[in-house]
Order: sequence, then structure tokens, then C-alpha cells
Amino acid sequence: MKLAHGWTLLRNGQLVDGTGAPPVPDAAVVVRNGKILYAGPSAGAPETPPDARVIDAHGGTILPGLVEAHFHATYFNVLELQDLDIRYPVEYVTIRAVKNAQTALEAGYTAARSGGSLFNIDVWLRRALDEDMIPGPRLAPSGREICGAGGLMDWNPDYRKIGMEGLVLIVNGPDEARAAVRKLVKDGVEWVKTYPTGDAAAPDINDHHSLSMTFEEMHAVVGTAHNHGLKVTGHCRANQGIKNALRAGYDALEHATFMDDEALDLLLERNVPVVPALWFEQASVDHGAQFGMSQRVIDGHKETLEGGAASALRIQRAGGRIALGGDFGFTWTPHGTYAKEITFFVRQVGFTPLEALTCATKNGAELMGRGHEIGTVEPGKLADLLVVDGDVLQNIRLLENRANFRAVLQGGQLKAGKLAAEPRP
Ligand SMILES: [Zn+2]
Repeated sequence: MKLAHGWTLLRNGQLVDGTGAPPVPDAAVVVRNGKILYAGPSAGAPETPPDARVIDAHGGTILPGLVEAHFHATYFNVLELQDLDIRYPVEYVTIRAVKNAQTALEAGYTAARSGGSLFNIDVWLRRALDEDMIPGPRLAPSGREICGAGGLMDWNPDYRKIGMEGLVLIVNGPDEARAAVRKLVKDGVEWVKTYPTGDAAAPDINDHHSLSMTFEEMHAVVGTAHNHGLKVTGHCRANQGIKNALRAGYDALEHATFMDDEALDLLLERNVPVVPALWFEQASVDHGAQFGMSQRVIDGHKETLEGGAASALRIQRAGGRIALGGDFGFTWTPHGTYAKEITFFVRQVGFTPLEALTCATKNGAELMGRGHEIGTVEPGKLADLLVVDGDVLQNIRLLENRANFRAVLQGGQLKAGKLAAEPRP
């Protein structure tokens, strides 16, 4: 993505810099050629030339662009998982993914890490984004996900003879697991996303306490991925699946729902980051019946929600790393509503607003492997910034409504928000 040329001064707002430091009242952020030159009290800001662009925060909040840590660009607000498989062609899904990327940026998310993609769409989406062909977040792609045969994502019966080609690579044993990773290496992914466990969504044979891959398969995935410089993560609900992932050398965990003390110790030993993705569970409990979920599935989501919230709080209080992202892209959790995850962590899980914002910015950037470039408002970093009307620390829900966004900047370029809609004076 191109950096802006020239100078920008953001002023007249409180600064929440993403590091977890207390907010700086009456702050200024000075941007030169797309990078942050200064961030702090306005009294200490360096002079800017007369032709500098000035963004007045009008007493609102200046913060880092948000990072969606579990983003599915190709989940296009579907009614059920099967919609992601055989009902739509790659052409249509690609167009929807482009729109979802634009929606994410407009919602204040300047970066995102893919939690898996249909076909290899997110890899090529990243290229189009990097080339400034389309608007959207900086993206760390995953391509197709890996799941054991008969596991959570292998839902088409064999007699249909249609496989699962678009969504996942199905593996049987360590050799096939290695072959799947090697395909992803060639596809150009950054992350390998796997399915160590089942989920409440599949209560009959792959529920949230079951395993969808063997330890040997997971270990083979990690060895091959790390050999090629890729990182590995996995959908981990069941306690045993979490431990398998940590012992196999996973670089991150999605969900980490049901953790005993041993699992927590293993996690903290290597400080492995976790993306709980809890709003999806709450929304499924609240709205599942309306969208055809059985009571059994809803009960499973409720158990998952309670287990996941407890685990997330334990990880945070023990000094672990949580990043926020939420599996958005279902009818009851549409794209653009990602900040509901942040609100949920403040209102329901017990994180302070500052903690939740650090998880939604700095921790997400670190998880992407780009903590040195983005995620906080500090000198030397790319000017990926969000300017919001009002005090976000007092009312975290302000982030849910893009009508409150004055400016969304990427590399110092004004990309979205109310100011982007106005002609430059
Ligand atoms: Zn996901």
C-alpha cells in the first residue's frame, strides 16, 4: 500500500495509543510521508509546514486502526456453513470478498489476519489490496483450512462425490497433512489454519469436546509449515485439542475455549496468542433459533460462550496475550459489525476498555507479525489511525457505529470516515 506524501497533523483529541498506556488528553499526532513522526501532548508537537493537512478530532479520540484478528473475507454473511461450500462459485465469492474487505476498512479495521478462506481468494485479495487496486485492511492470508477426514469441516457424505475442495483440505494421517501444507506453501499463505477440534455447530459427531485431527497430523503440519516460514493456528475448543496444539508447537490458538490449568501453563510457557472470538457465540445464543439452529446447537454455543469467556479472562489476568476477532460473515454476525467483539469483552468478559483496545490493536498487529509496523500510535510506525467522535474509553460502543468515525487513515492516506466524504478544503 502506498504511503501518503507530505504532512498531516491530527489534533484536539485524546490519544489512546494502543500500548495500554493511560490516554493522553489534548494530544497531537504528526504524520510525515505516511509514518508517525510524533504522538503525545500537543504542547510538545513539532512544527508542521503551512501546507500540512490538519485533521481536527473535535475533542474525540485518536487511536490506532483496529486489527480484526480472525477475519473471513470469503464468508459472505451466509445463513449456514454449507453456503460456503457448493452453493456458490468462486467467481461470486471473490466479488463478495472484495466488498467485505471494503466494509472492514470503513468499519475502522485497517489490518486483518485471515482465519481461513474459500479457494485461495485471500492470498490474491492481499495482492489487490497491497497494489491499492481496492480498499481494505492490510491482510495476512491463510488460504484453505486443513481438517482431518470425518472432522468438523468434512461434512459432505462420500456418496455425493463432491469433496470439500473450495473450503478445506481434508487429510488422513501425517503424510497427507504434510502434503496439504506443501500445497499451501505454493499457494502463498502466511498462516496455516487447522481444525484440531469440533464445535457446538456439529453436535452429532463433531461437537466441541471432540477432536478433528490427531496429534501426529498436527505435529506434521507444524514441522512442514515452520520449515517454510509459515505460522500455524487452529480451531481449538476441546481441552485435549488445545494441549495437542500447544505441544505440537502451534504459533497461535483460535478460541482456546475449554482450558484446564495444565493447558493454561502450556500456553503461558511460550506466550502463545489466543483469539477467543466470543461475540459469535453470544449472537448464536441470542439469534440462533431465528436462523434455524436446534436447541441442542444453541445449548452448545452457550456452553462454549461461558467456557470461552472464563478462559479469556484467565489468560488475560495471567499475563497472556489476547487478540480480538470474531468469525464475522454469518447472517446473524454480518461484516462491518466486528467492534461488537470489543464491546463484548468490556461489557461481558470483564476487560477494561484500555485492555480491550490493546487486544484489538497492538496484540492483533503482533499476531500478524507486523507489530513493528502497525498496531500502536508511536513514532516510526505506519500512520494507520482512527479518529472517533467522543470518548471511546467512556463508551466503547462508539466503535460499533461508523457514523462516529471522523477519519480512517492507512499509511497516512485518508481512506474512510466523514472527512473522506468531504472535498478537501
Ligand atoms: Zn473462523
